[in-house]
Amino acid sequence: MNKIPMNTPLVEMDGDEMTRILWQQIKDELILPFVDLKTEYYDLSLPRREETGDQITIDAAKANKKYGVAVKCATITPNAQRVEEYKLSQMWKSPNGTIRAILDGTVFRAPIMVKGINPVVKNWKQPITIARHAYGDVYRDTELRVPGPGRATLSYASEDGQTQFSQTVYDFECPGVLQALYNKDNSILSFARSCFNYALATKQSLWFSTKDTISKQYDHTFKDLFAEVYEKEYKEKFEKLGIEYFYTLIDDAVARVIRSKGGFIWALKNYDGDVMSDMVSTAFGSLAMMTSVLVSPDGNFEYEAAHGTVTRHYYRYLKGEETSTNPVATIFAWSGALRKRGELDGLQALQDYADALEASVIAVIEGGVMTGDLVGLWEGEAPARKVTSMEFLRAIRAELEQRLA
Ligand code: NAP
Ligand code: MG
Repeated sequence: MNKIPMNTPLVEMDGDEMTRILWQQIKDELILPFVDLKTEYYDLSLPRREETGDQITIDAAKANKKYGVAVKCATITPNAQRVEEYKLSQMWKSPNGTIRAILDGTVFRAPIMVKGINPVVKNWKQPITIARHAYGDVYRDTELRVPGPGRATLSYASEDGQTQFSQTVYDFECPGVLQALYNKDNSILSFARSCFNYALATKQSLWFSTKDTISKQYDHTFKDLFAEVYEKEYKEKFEKLGIEYFYTLIDDAVARVIRSKGGFIWALKNYDGDVMSDMVSTAFGSLAMMTSVLVSPDGNFEYEAAHGTVTRHYYRYLKGEETSTNPVATIFAWSGALRKRGELDGLQALQDYADALEASVIAVIEGGVMTGDLVGLWEGEAPARKVTSMEFLRAIRAELEQRLA
C-alpha cells in the first residue's frame, strides 16, 4: 500500500508516563503504516526538560510558531513530590503554560461523541466546545482581609503622573474582605480573535457571555471589544459561512446551553470557563474522551488530549500489567493535527486519512469494544467488551485498513 505523503513537518511534542507509552503505540499501529509521517520531534518528557533546563519546551513552542501545527502528548507538571521522584534541580513550570504564553493562545475543549455513551443532558446531540480566556481576573488578583472599620479605595496613577483617580470601594464598619482584579485590552483582543478564527476553522457559531449588566466597565469592555473585532474583521466571513456570533448575558447563556442541541463554541471569561468546562465535560461523559486545542490569534494550532499522563495506570504498567487506558483523546489529537496540516498544505489524502481514523475509532466503540473507563457509561445495543489499550488499538487498525483499502 502506498503511504500518504506529507509536505511540511508536524511539530511532535512527546510527553510522560502512560500517555508516552500510548503515544508510541498509536504511531506504530495507526499512523506509520499509513502515512509517510514527517515530524520535527521534541521530547518534552520531564527527564528531558530537566536535562535542557526546560529549553526544549521553549524550542518546541517556537517550532509550533514556525510550522503552524503541533501535536502534544500529556506531560507532568512537577509538584514537590515529582521533584523528589525525578530528582529535579527545580520545580519546572507547566509546559502547557509555557507554550500558551509563547503562542498567546486560547484553549478550546471539545468532547468526542459516540452512540451508546449519552450526555447527561439528553437533548445535546452535538459537541459543545468551551473556550476559556486563560488570563487575568481572579487568577491574578490582589486580595486583602480587612481587619476592621476603615475606608477601602481603588486608585490608579498613569506612568507620567498626569492622570490619577481614586474611588471609594466601601467604608467598612466591621471586618471584611477586599479583592482587586484586572485584565488587559490586548489579551481580551487576542482571546476574541482566537475564538473567531476557531469558529471559522470549525464552521461553528460562536457564543460569548459575561455579566455586563452588573459589571458596567469590566465585563462591558469584554463585550465591546468582542463586538468591535467581530464587526471590523469577521462579520463578512461569518455571514459567508452561514455561522453566527451571538452575545448574551451569562445567566441567559447557561439556560440556553442546557436547552440546546449543542454544535457551537461557547467562549467564557477565565473563571466562568474554569467552572463551566468541568461541568460540560462531565455532562458529556469522560475526561478520556475530551480533546483540547490551543489556537493562537495569528493562526497556530496545538492539539492534545485534555487529560493528564494517567499516572496510576503507568505504575501498574511498570509492574508488567496490561492496562486498559483510553487512547481516544490522544488519537484525536493526532488526527486533528494531521487534518489541519492537510488543510494548510492542500493535501486531500491526509485530510481523508484523518477522517477515516476518527471514524474507525468511533465505529469500534459503537461496536461494543472499549477501554475500561467507558464500560460503566455504556448504554449501547452491542454488549460492552472491555479490552486492553493494545487490543483496542489493533481493533481500530483493522477497521482503518478496511476503510482505506
Ligand atoms: P489524569 O492523568 O488525567 O488522570 C486522572 C484519572 O482519570 C486517572 O487516574 C484515571 O482514573 C482517569 N483517566 C484520565 N485519563 C484517562 C484515560 N485516557 N484512560 C483511562 N482513564 C483515564 O490526571 P492526574 O492523575 O491528576 O494527573 C497526572 C499527571 O498528569 C500529573 O503529573 C499532571 O501534572 C499531569 N497533567 C498533564 C496535563 C497535560 O499535559 N495537558 C493535564 C492534566 C494533568 P482511574 O485511575 O480511576 O482509572
Ligand atoms: Mg476547573
